[in-house]
Amino acid sequence: MQPITILKKYFGYTTFRPGQEEIINALLSGRDCLAIMPTGAGKSICFQIPGLILDGITIVISPLISLMKDQVDSLVNQQIPAAYINSQCTFPEMKEKFSLIRSGKIKLVYVSPERLENEFFMSFMSNMHISLVVIDEAHCVSQWGHDFRTSYCHIKDWLQSLQPRPVVGAFTATATEKVKTDMMSLLGLQEEKIFIGGFDRPNLYFSVVKGIDKTPFILNYLTKHKNDSGIIYAATRKEVDRLYTELHKYHIKAGRYHAGMSDETRRTMQERFSYDEIQVMVATNAFGMGIDKSNVRFVIHYQMPKNLESYYQEAGRAGRDGAPGECILLFSRQDIMVQRYLIKMSCHDMQQKLKEEHMLRRMIDYCECHTCLRRYILEYFGEHSQWEQCGHCGNCDRKVVEEDMTLPAKSVFICVDELKGRFGMTMICDILKGSANAKVKRYGFDHAVAYGMLSRFSLNEIRDFVRQCIEDQYLEQTEGQYPIISLTAAGQNVLAGTAKVLQKIAIPSSSEILETK
Ligand code: ADP
Ligand code: ZN
Repeated sequence: MQPITILKKYFGYTTFRPGQEEIINALLSGRDCLAIMPTGAGKSICFQIPGLILDGITIVISPLISLMKDQVDSLVNQQIPAAYINSQCTFPEMKEKFSLIRSGKIKLVYVSPERLENEFFMSFMSNMHISLVVIDEAHCVSQWGHDFRTSYCHIKDWLQSLQPRPVVGAFTATATEKVKTDMMSLLGLQEEKIFIGGFDRPNLYFSVVKGIDKTPFILNYLTKHKNDSGIIYAATRKEVDRLYTELHKYHIKAGRYHAGMSDETRRTMQERFSYDEIQVMVATNAFGMGIDKSNVRFVIHYQMPKNLESYYQEAGRAGRDGAPGECILLFSRQDIMVQRYLIKMSCHDMQQKLKEEHMLRRMIDYCECHTCLRRYILEYFGEHSQWEQCGHCGNCDRKVVEEDMTLPAKSVFICVDELKGRFGMTMICDILKGSANAKVKRYGFDHAVAYGMLSRFSLNEIRDFVRQCIEDQYLEQTEGQYPIISLTAAGQNVLAGTAKVLQKIAIPSSSEILETK
């Protein structure tokens, strides 16, 4: 059975959480794993699923007898063949458990580390086929950890005595460098083929870029990263096709991938990408399942995805080899409207709709936050980072200043006020920019007070600014096919001079400025 099938069948979940699938696959392919995941992130599944798939038995070394019983009881409830062996078992119980293990009816055996000093247990196990040994709370082996346990020191010798040596998975939530090196050496993990996995991906650089023309940004980025392989995710098939054609015009070796293409073409595209015949893959979120390419150096999102789960999963395809990877999200406020619309169209259940909207809100917050992006992600998934700033993301590399935007905001509000709530975004931006197009002239708006008031900005910048004003509730926009924009009471106060508009502005890092030029 495939891991995902087991996840559904035994655990009743439909998708893996960040890090789980990679750890499971690494263990199944025979690599030792050091998995660093925060409490509550879902470590157990990462070894229980391989335990069910592998031929032999899986020994789980767990330091707390009290927890062991709870864990095993709930596994047995889920029809998973597990048992624990510890000092609290009576002799007849022991006998029964050993016989079940011998006959292959129990796949997961939970023991305390002290059990490895028990002669009877050791001689019994030496005759069993052990596929996987899991060390839970593996930091207990290190004196630098917060709860050092001497009995953990016997694990290494025991592992070395087993023939053939089983695969080893060490799990912990503690990730300081000292403890990490200790776990590797004191547990005897096989360094040459170890997989270090988990939640946080320190080799990935996250950034959100806004207020730019996206296509030129991409072209620019690709010319600077000619030798790097990467993925560009776009929201729709149409967008994928358009971008793909555009990149080809500039002789970039791009491939494309979406559900509207034939199986055959998709397979070829994926293969050519794996063999580095294609430099960048432009794709919808249909591209992902089973990508096994470790040297993806960048993942660019052309639009904001619908939630952080999708984002982290897709972005996480960069840097699987541990070398640096870059994850860039190109954000424009229009993405918000698109995602809201998609939720509206796809959710018929009110509860579901509220849930998806909430998740979208957190995704937007990610794009708009001014604090460390990695910290934001980790906290979203339940980890409490010990640091404020990672020092290695777009936001950590920036300075944030609060700027008084009252003047340009007033120009926008004057324009909206002049139009008396009869027009929408395009007309407002055209007037502010001072565009001389036919529609503006037909209505005589080239004589409006606001005409050309923001001509020093690009149309894109004006549009983003107006959207920001809507988001901040100085303006409101109706729904429907032709949304119109009007002033709110807060906007009127600004016009009347009784309130100011302050906006947090991030000063991009110097590398970003180069990038967008
Ligand atoms: P940890 O050992 O990392 O503290 P657990 O393995 O106890 O965490 O998992 C924490 C909770 O998350 C459990 O209730 C578990 O059932 C749940 N969980 C684990 N994996 C998933 C998943 N893929 N989808 C949804 N819930 C999950
Ligand atoms: Zn950071």
